Amino acid sequence: AVGLVKREITRVVSAGTVTDDAILDPRESNYVAAIVADTERSGASGLSPDVRDAWADLSTGRFWAAVFPRARLADQLARIRPVECLVSEDESPIGASGGESWMVTRRPPWAFGLDAARNRLTQHFQTASLDGFGFQDADRAAIRAAGALLEYLQETQKAPLHHLDRLLPYRQGLALELDESTRRSLEITRTIRDGSREGSLLAVLDRTTTPMGSRMLADWLSNPLTDLAAIASRQDAVGELTGDLAFRSSLRDALRNVYDLERLVARVMTGRASPRDLSFVGRTLASLPEVKSQLGRRASPLLREYDELLDLCPELSAELSRALVDDCPLSPRDGGVIRTGYHAELDQLRELAAGGKQWIASYQAQEMQRTGIPNLKVGFNKVFGYFIEITNAHKEKVPINYTRKQTLTGAERYVTPELKEYEDKVLDADERSRDLEYQLFLQLRDRVATHARPLQRTANVLAMLDTLGSLAELAAKQGYCRPKLVSDRMLEILDGRHPVLDIMQPAGAFVPNDTSAGPERGLLLLITGPNMAGKSTYIRQVALLTLMAQIGSFVPARQAVIGVADRIFARVGASDELSRGQSTFMVEMTETARILNTATPRSLVILDEIGRGTSTYDGVSLAWAIVEHLHDRIGCRTLFATHYHELTDLAQSLPELRNLNVAVKEWDDNVVFLHKIGRAHV
Ligand code: ADP
Repeated sequence: AVGLVKREITRVVSAGTVTDDAILDPRESNYVAAIVADTERSGASGLSPDVRDAWADLSTGRFWAAVFPRARLADQLARIRPVECLVSEDESPIGASGGESWMVTRRPPWAFGLDAARNRLTQHFQTASLDGFGFQDADRAAIRAAGALLEYLQETQKAPLHHLDRLLPYRQGLALELDESTRRSLEITRTIRDGSREGSLLAVLDRTTTPMGSRMLADWLSNPLTDLAAIASRQDAVGELTGDLAFRSSLRDALRNVYDLERLVARVMTGRASPRDLSFVGRTLASLPEVKSQLGRRASPLLREYDELLDLCPELSAELSRALVDDCPLSPRDGGVIRTGYHAELDQLRELAAGGKQWIASYQAQEMQRTGIPNLKVGFNKVFGYFIEITNAHKEKVPINYTRKQTLTGAERYVTPELKEYEDKVLDADERSRDLEYQLFLQLRDRVATHARPLQRTANVLAMLDTLGSLAELAAKQGYCRPKLVSDRMLEILDGRHPVLDIMQPAGAFVPNDTSAGPERGLLLLITGPNMAGKSTYIRQVALLTLMAQIGSFVPARQAVIGVADRIFARVGASDELSRGQSTFMVEMTETARILNTATPRSLVILDEIGRGTSTYDGVSLAWAIVEHLHDRIGCRTLFATHYHELTDLAQSLPELRNLNVAVKEWDDNVVFLHKIGRAHV
């Protein structure tokens, strides 16, 4: 460049605001959250301070806000798993339990102001108020968090954020609630040991063919349903896909040609889409008719609904395939993006630029003949441009319309008006064709942007189809059954298997077990047996089967009737707590207290080796009291694994308690674990 170069910051990248595919794990959502503590309301009502939270995934355009009691914050954050959290500079650290994996970014307090937030949001959404999004007066402070979040995104992105086109209120109670320690104990999306995805329930179940499906499955597992009809409609779809191999495999094959439309659209909307991104949008659209053709005349209402929602955007699809070359480059500035035949002027410019050699050859031949100079040569150099070179031997034959340009030792160089004109055209053509291509690319990108809504909707449908297909594939391959979900407090499972071990262990190695719980058959199951007998495995298995059933999945069992749970609580093992800087016993008791305070009769509670963190007598007493409380005061389905045999005596006083035992045999002086759970005879 000549002179001063304009410098500016065009974008600030942080953990929560990355949108590049190369950096993001395509299988995971990338949420940035903002948290506000609302001290005003707590003053009035005397409740513990409420916390407002808003979270958004810039790479996909999801934007939510909600209000939680402060005590629930850690659980909510565990559900959302943001990578970055915005907190006001004047706020004391709103810690969850320590050991969080997200980055904390401090923002100025004014960004969290109510008026500022409201103005910013209404301006962004172009609405007069936020009522239309379903935010009521009581949610007012959720707006503050959402406003602060939007402010941060605008400041860092310096690009239009049109794909954040709605702010959704997140309402609790529609989903099965899982607190932070339950999510961790059950290893739903991460393992306890190293916090990685590998080995988690999610990783084992994931048979999706697209990253969108992968993220959707994680979302379903993090937010299981409680509504019987909603679960049944997913089950119907999974059932249809499981039963029809041809349908399942052709749908899954069709989905393999689909790219990550959700993130592609987000990049289009933030002005960061490359030509290759556009061509991926085009290819995805081109493969939609195949997906749609699979969905015609299906019995499941959900599949029919998706069929209707799937928007093929035929004009956009046609335009993209007409416009873009097959193998699009990443950079929009260097040409090679637009197909020949799409734009007449571009074709001309390209011909001109490329056809230079041909023209020169024929011009040279023509001039040779005209002048009779056999070694006349047309050439080009950077300083003088195009020239005609004539050796001194033929000097006299030079025509009068030749203008001398340069003298060499044995020759002279000339130019003609014709050559000059051509030179201007050619040199310009290449540059102009690149410019024109860039303009055409921008126009195409804008065209895609105008289709953002239908494209996002389509992306969502593709993700759900992929997730249903994945559940069906798993059910078919692993021999799962469709559980019957009921509203009673019961569990009736025949030959249930632990979903993770069932897949990880060699076929047939896992020993299936039955479960029967409910009023009059025993609400509280007390499982005793030696270490390594399989107690933890068994109680986790029951929790995981319930969870799977409530996302609409089939389950690894011969037969299952499962009463929908409103919450699952799992308190399993105390091994990893020391690393988190808290006393094992303290953590155990705090979490147990929380279970006892918040479980309802509809909940499912699994407790493993409670009381182990203290001396034997204290431990037995605690375990004893906890069992009594769950039995007498709550009456929820409970599986309680313990090595305290003393507790089996409780069966005499507690009518809903059943004693179970894990079978162990002695064989040639060795202990053989049979892993078979049965009624204990005590
Ligand atoms: P406990 O809680 O009684 O100490 P665990 O549940 O930790 O025992 O199980 C001990 C080991 O036995 C684990 O390695 C697990 O993989 C294996 N195991 C448990 N249940 C079964 C089963 N039903 N079939 C096969 N292996 C099992």
